[in-house]
Amino acid sequence: MHRVRTPLLYVIPVLAALAPNLFAQANSDWNEPFPPHRVIGNVYFVGTRGLASYLITTSQGSILVNSSLETSVPLIRASIEKLGFKFSDVKILLISHAHFDHCAGSFQIKELTGAKYMVMEQDVPVIEDGGKTDFQYGKTASAQFKPMKVDRVLHDGDEVKLGDVVMVAHLTPGHTKGCTTWTLKVKDGGKTYDVVIVGSPNVNAGYKLVNNALYPQIATDYERMWRVLKSLPCDVFLGAHGNYYGMEKKYAQLGKSGQNPFIDPAGYRAYIAERESTFRAELAKQTASAK
Ligand SMILES: [Zn+2]
Repeated sequence: MHRVRTPLLYVIPVLAALAPNLFAQANSDWNEPFPPHRVIGNVYFVGTRGLASYLITTSQGSILVNSSLETSVPLIRASIEKLGFKFSDVKILLISHAHFDHCAGSFQIKELTGAKYMVMEQDVPVIEDGGKTDFQYGKTASAQFKPMKVDRVLHDGDEVKLGDVVMVAHLTPGHTKGCTTWTLKVKDGGKTYDVVIVGSPNVNAGYKLVNNALYPQIATDYERMWRVLKSLPCDVFLGAHGNYYGMEKKYAQLGKSGQNPFIDPAGYRAYIAERESTFRAELAKQTASAK
């Protein structure tokens, strides 16, 4: 069932008029708690209904992917504790990309846990100036966040190791210059699975794919991203927002059959193909109108 969302119908147009590029993406479910759950093996969902965060537990503490909003941090903490883990065991903090809805809570997470913050090099300037040099939202005050010093600068293909876990950082740029897709191998029930956490394949409202002075190579960066995403082996498909992979629907199916609903290689392929064709249509439209 859907929640009653009627009031938003009135609120969204007002916000959209104020800052169309940003609020077109905003959603009331970003701050809505969602039951934490095991996805597969040592990978757990600890995010909100609209913003995905993942806890990967290891023999030497945990890795957290996405700090989300400042207001998400108490919800993430509660989710981690509800699963029986310690928030203070978070040793490494990673993000999907340098947008406030995935990184604004990083300051608090680091203060509370002392986790090491590791970010893809092309997103580092934006993280370190609090969003001011973001090519799209640099002048949007509400998209900015507390500037943070990064503890480790990551490069495409770098491994992040903790205990018995190895995560690989794949540069999948376009949505941000350092947008990162994370992969890891997970053991569950005697089998090994490839897990992919997609950074973002989306072209936001207002993104200029052609003649973008602040991001001249944006279209070729998206092309690189499609190549990378299509090349990754994937059994379990996750992403920066739960709606990338149908999180709510899959969660509802948990335990209802013998099969783990999060194992969805076909869903991954279909999602990437659909997102790529949406990108191609937008690129063709912008190319035609630039002539
Ligand atoms: Zn984003």
